[in-house]
Amino acid sequence: MERSYVIKPELGKNYPVISHGKGIYLYDKEGKRYIDGSSGAVTASIGHAVDEVVEAMYAQGKEVSFAYRSHFSSDAVEQLGAKLAEWAPGSLNWTFFVSSGSEATETAQKIAIQYWQEKGKSTKNRIISRWMSYHGITMGALSMSGHVLRRKRFVPLLEDYPAITGPYPYRKPEGMSLEEYGLQCANELETAILRVGPDQVAAFIAEPVIGATAGAVVPPDGYFQRIREICDKYDVLFIADEVMTGVGRTGKAFGVDHWGVVPDMITLGKGMSAGYTPMAATIVSEEIIETITKGTGLIMAGHTYSANPQSAAVSLAVLNYVEKHHLIQKSAEQGAYLLQRLQELAEELPLIGDARGLGMLCGLEFVKNKQTKEPFELSKNVSGKVIAKAFEKGLLVYPAVGGIEGVAGDCVILAPPLTITKEEIDELISILKAAIESVQ
Ligand code: PLP
Repeated sequence: MERSYVIKPELGKNYPVISHGKGIYLYDKEGKRYIDGSSGAVTASIGHAVDEVVEAMYAQGKEVSFAYRSHFSSDAVEQLGAKLAEWAPGSLNWTFFVSSGSEATETAQKIAIQYWQEKGKSTKNRIISRWMSYHGITMGALSMSGHVLRRKRFVPLLEDYPAITGPYPYRKPEGMSLEEYGLQCANELETAILRVGPDQVAAFIAEPVIGATAGAVVPPDGYFQRIREICDKYDVLFIADEVMTGVGRTGKAFGVDHWGVVPDMITLGKGMSAGYTPMAATIVSEEIIETITKGTGLIMAGHTYSANPQSAAVSLAVLNYVEKHHLIQKSAEQGAYLLQRLQELAEELPLIGDARGLGMLCGLEFVKNKQTKEPFELSKNVSGKVIAKAFEKGLLVYPAVGGIEGVAGDCVILAPPLTITKEEIDELISILKAAIESVQ
């Protein structure tokens, strides 16, 4: 084709055209092979072209693909709802289906505000979030996101902005234990609630492991337990944004399961349908649904494609596949091996300041000076150069640069499909090493 009429992420750049995929590999039309080292955007978590999912897609398509949620429910959507109720902790038994992570977090934002209105507390309509976070690109979701690069141009349209910082163990103050540091960061939430006024705050939202802005930053143990206590103390709902961490990515069904914390809402996307179709969800507690049912009885959110049978059948097949092949356990085991290999790389290569992660969600932070941890100027775009070199060599790596100059590092995410084997991890590491070395 002479000319493309498609708006691509980088205008003017020629993108290879994808031909097909199998397992952890993707192939372009020129026949070049890529290891999907990031599952795309941390999405294709069961690998490419899995027969069971394709068959479920076809079987549902032959029956009915679309029936509007205001007219019908479907077996696929009911079964998927029941499966998520089984997976989710505590009384998180109800699911509102949407089609993207941004819709899921924005729906959670709306449900939180509506919940307090139904309880007669309509001043509770602020959402507290953290800098160095990502909750989506639509305006409501972006207003909660602490992703400076993505916010910048739209600040006048954003209703709100993050109020606190999340824990960043690599850059914690010297002399403070991890536990003390985690508690100090969690206590920032209490201060923020008191500043705004508890009667104004509807909810707090956070990613269990920071993804797109800083590359798999894992909080200290105790952080989320303290967050839960503070939310309970001030009648603030806790929304865990598990769009990236959910469905086994971190080695547990949900990221918050690592700390035994039960949120009031969990948002899912990405791995929920593993890229086979757009599908996402806001999982909601019994208490919230009971309150809204007794009140107006209608959740003021929803999109045309919400709860369509086609996406529900695909997502159900993905969750069944994860269960049948014990992929959550594999994520924990193989993820530990991936992290160990990345930490070896960090010992060896001067450019890497930190290698971190949980399960199959790992990150590398590139620094100017390993001893002082001095970050690179963002204009140097070191992660961008590593990603470009890796791409050339047939490895896909995901950027994680939140854009807070001098504070956050320049990071990448490694998050291959949960099905990856040790041998494939070794292959990934050797290409990654060559890519990083060629940037030094
Ligand atoms: N929340 C988190 C934690 C994410 O990582 C993302 C995407 O990267 C989103 C929300 C937004 O999801 P989507 O891109 O599907 O709208």
